[in-house]
Amino acid sequence: MNVIETFEFEEIKGFKFGKSLFGKPKLFSHIYFIDGLMIDTGHTKMASKIFHQVKDLPVKQIFITHHHEDHSGNITAMQSHFDCPVYASDLCSEMMKSPPPISFAQKISWGTRPSFQNIIPTSGFIETDNYKFEIIPIPGHAVDMVALYEPNKKWLFSADLYVNSYIAYFLENESILDQINSIKRILELDFDVMLCGHNPQFKNGKEKLKKKLLFLEKLFEDIYNLYEKKFSAEQIFRELKYKEFWYVRIMSNGHLSKLNMVKSVIRDIENKK
Ligand SMILES: [Zn+2]
Repeated sequence: MNVIETFEFEEIKGFKFGKSLFGKPKLFSHIYFIDGLMIDTGHTKMASKIFHQVKDLPVKQIFITHHHEDHSGNITAMQSHFDCPVYASDLCSEMMKSPPPISFAQKISWGTRPSFQNIIPTSGFIETDNYKFEIIPIPGHAVDMVALYEPNKKWLFSADLYVNSYIAYFLENESILDQINSIKRILELDFDVMLCGHNPQFKNGKEKLKKKLLFLEKLFEDIYNLYEKKFSAEQIFRELKYKEFWYVRIMSNGHLSKLNMVKSVIRDIENKK
């Protein structure tokens, strides 16, 4: 089942895409458009439908928040259609030249992620005719991820920093400590609207992000305390009575799991030593 919805919020246009084999999709991806700037390009699994929705927009520039396939999948098609520059963080620009392989589950839900050689690395600001967005590094979910913030409008395009106040699985290379620090950095900004890559919040965005911070800090502390007592990752998982979403873990070949959250904490503790 394919779901495509569009919405408008102030001067922002949002495009929401979701696909699932059975029933309604549970996870959606978003493309945002504001004043000539397209933020992210969606995944290739729905490439033609996405393209159909956005092809008449007056896009003058494209910005990619991070290298994950649901954000970077359609860069090539969009860039050649709009014939415009594509920008991203230095790290994202570098990673997209030869992006890491993606799991079977990611391919099933979001399709492939072709490389793209010509992203212009940028930091500091990206400007449109009427707005100036601060580019803020928010590593953790992905090392190259950045948010865009318009201080006058108080719009926050938060990429995948939020997704939800509680999360049940991680990719195997996510850093929980980096996520905590990134959330703290973003919470210093003045905003209420959070244009998340998967789950936009039109009010109380800051409160919801605070909730996620508390959730991650508690998770970190619980795991930290047991690791100090020499528990292994699997023992910690059992001791804390965590539950695995087996469908997700199996489909992703272990790339996505709750156990990855435990391992992420342990990795962060070891890296800090
Ligand atoms: Zn992502």
